[in-house]
Amino acid sequence: MEYECVKCGHKNATGTQECAACKWPLTIEAWEKSEYKIFKITKDSSCINAKQQHPALNQLEEWEKQGRLRLQGAEELRKEAQGSFQQAKAEATTPLPTNFFILGSSCLNGGDIFAGPEIWDQLRAILFPTVAELNNNQMSDVNHLAQHVRSGGDVFVTSDTNFIRKQEALRRYGIWVFSPEELVALLKRLYKWN
Ligand SMILES: [Zn+2]
Repeated sequence: MEYECVKCGHKNATGTQECAACKWPLTIEAWEKSEYKIFKITKDSSCINAKQQHPALNQLEEWEKQGRLRLQGAEELRKEAQGSFQQAKAEATTPLPTNFFILGSSCLNGGDIFAGPEIWDQLRAILFPTVAELNNNQMSDVNHLAQHVRSGGDVFVTSDTNFIRKQEALRRYGIWVFSPEELVALLKRLYKWN
């Protein structure tokens, strides 16, 4: 099997540690040696943390205040937020970047981002392979992850088992999905944060 790298489109064989073309990590071990740093983290709707009662999410928000990472919210986060507390928190979250690189008008080092691939169909096939017709929630899950990929996010953080149980399948493409607890543990280990 070959898996198309989510960052550059290169097709990598099963078991590849990092993308052969762009070096994007495809395994946890590769993150330890990588020059890429986890910075842009997309929050799923399960991670809004409106009441600040989730220790791992509180930790991520603390690191964000210190400028160590950025928590971003997709358009889908605003749609899925329920009740005024959640909505206010979702609104306060940095939106996903849309300053995509445009040939001829962006400068190469001007901070514009390269759009990730449009991989809605692949994501749908990975997340819900046996579902003939997606319900609204499933549709929203696919949209949410697709928006993350398109905006070039590093990691998608979620407590939703629809995503978590597909971690292995997704990381082969370089799509990184973690629970808040897993992500906190990984960041502590990789960057010696405490
Ligand atoms: Zn690549």
